[in-house]
Amino acid sequence: MFVVMRIAATEAEVLGVKSRILAEGLTPYEHAGNSGLQLAVVGELGGRRAALMEVLAGLPGVERVTPINRPFKLTSREFHPEDTVIRVLDAAIGDGSLTVMAGPCSVESRAQLLLTATRVKAAGATILRGGAFKPRTSPYAFQGLGVEALRYLGEARDETGLPVITEVMEPNQVDIVAEYADILQIGTRNMQNYSLLQAVGRVARPVMLKRGYGATIEEWLMAAEYIVSSGNPNVILCERGIRTFETYTRNTLDLAAVPVLHNLTHLPVIVDPSHATGKRWLVRPLALGGVAVGADGVMVEVHPDPDSALSDAEQQLTIEDFEGLMDDLVAVHENVRGLHDAAQPVAIELGAADGGLSKH
Ligand code: PEP
Ligand code: MN
Repeated sequence: MFVVMRIAATEAEVLGVKSRILAEGLTPYEHAGNSGLQLAVVGELGGRRAALMEVLAGLPGVERVTPINRPFKLTSREFHPEDTVIRVLDAAIGDGSLTVMAGPCSVESRAQLLLTATRVKAAGATILRGGAFKPRTSPYAFQGLGVEALRYLGEARDETGLPVITEVMEPNQVDIVAEYADILQIGTRNMQNYSLLQAVGRVARPVMLKRGYGATIEEWLMAAEYIVSSGNPNVILCERGIRTFETYTRNTLDLAAVPVLHNLTHLPVIVDPSHATGKRWLVRPLALGGVAVGADGVMVEVHPDPDSALSDAEQQLTIEDFEGLMDDLVAVHENVRGLHDAAQPVAIELGAADGGLSKH
């Protein structure tokens, strides 16, 4: 549930409501939105829900108490109707502009990263990506350059002005990665690594949470809820394909997730057609498709010589391919942005028809 405070509520009244929530062993989270101050009441309510709603509604300064009909609370549009906009260096994600994250799958050398960084920046990318710690299916495959790669990413940021994003795989890597990176990435394999989610929830860096390849939208939002409830409101969601019976593509890109997420949550949504398809020639149409369905941006892998790449050689774009794609992404974005703004919001019903979002 969330408590909507009266516009004229005093600080003492707000404190009174918070203390009452804390006294119940629950946690109040504030959101000062367009319609005033709201307090989400988060925790295990059990059978107390109805009685507590009545108690809180009767406290001084309270306008009304509204249930949140979703298992995810802080990430829900019900609690936080306005879009979350994440600002990092000169980039803004979720403000209606087009975010383009580009760079190699893995940072392989200083020269490879700096060359890619300068060229993708010149082409219009807004964020530089590059893996330092790589989650590889095979223990014998290239595992990334680790801290050496983080240093190159820091250098590339200083040289280009682009914020950098890189993956963090374990709670004990969070501090060192946060020292160099502007955005922390949680990979598909770690979407439900709850101690890692809590660890990135405690640092002052935005987090991009990739969808688990076997995760439902609800499980994904619950994972985001771990990060936000640990204290970090700056979460970006990244649809990177899910595993289905189809084997031609590496994964199946769930483009429907984009408008569904925009309906259910205020967090920005990015589409990654590189890991979704695993095939270079499919990156372009699906990147354009991602922007067309209203994603806040895309993440694509770009390498100066993809065929010699140490990881994901088959899906990385050449720099020239990326330059061509960039122009077309901008064109699609220009054409669709007004259309999505004008779309009527749909109230997604809970139950089977909406893909089984459960009621809590
Ligand atoms: C990546 O973006 O580097 C990556 C490993 O992606 P995913 O976690 O989606 O497989
Ligand atoms: Mn990759």
